[in-house]
Amino acid sequence: MNTYLDGFKACPLCSGDLEHKQIEQDKSRPVCKHCGWIHWSNPVPTASSVIPYNGGVVLVKRAKPPQLDDWACPGGHVEHQESPIDTVVRETKEETNLDVRVVAEIGNPFTTESNHLVMFYLVEVIGGETRAGDDAKELEIFTLDALPENIAWIHHRQAIEDYYAGRNIRPINPQPLPPQNGPNKLNDEHCRLSPKDNNYSPTPNVFVWACIVYVALVLGMCLLTRFIH
Ligand SMILES: [Zn+2]
Repeated sequence: MNTYLDGFKACPLCSGDLEHKQIEQDKSRPVCKHCGWIHWSNPVPTASSVIPYNGGVVLVKRAKPPQLDDWACPGGHVEHQESPIDTVVRETKEETNLDVRVVAEIGNPFTTESNHLVMFYLVEVIGGETRAGDDAKELEIFTLDALPENIAWIHHRQAIEDYYAGRNIRPINPQPLPPQNGPNKLNDEHCRLSPKDNNYSPTPNVFVWACIVYVALVLGMCLLTRFIH
């Protein structure tokens, strides 16, 4: 039996007693005897960031349990009515003081034994200076060959290794840059999608395409006029 189904001693709505009931075939859940509330125990979504920065990736030392004092990618719980992408941007700012935007998904979302739905995103730094904050005790930049032994969870290490290998990375349309950080202010050193990723191709500029179509039309018209005369 999944212990997370036993997280409630009583119904959180009416304090009634709970009993395990068959909800569907092969699916039983604690149900309130009084009001019928069902304890579904759906996974709790979390989102974390892999942050390439100054030749390494930014990790934070955890200031709170679980895994107190271990190193981890910045991240946290997806809040009420928040998208995982907004979670990553918010949590990264809180823990590292860096302004980031999400450029790719890393790996596949999965549910842990602790019933957390884990999502990883590759981000690029668009502003701010590193400073540990919120749930982060310290902050450091690690290269692949110097990753700490005590990384909080195996899937955090996996996401970092995937980034370095250019593996399991799916680019997504990045959010627009805020006006005060124009593209010319971006530091390419901080914004590489991945050292080995060759699949990333930004959408061609609409203006360039318009020019190509225009030139093709003019050439076509010239040829046509020659044939007619
Ligand atoms: Zn109830």
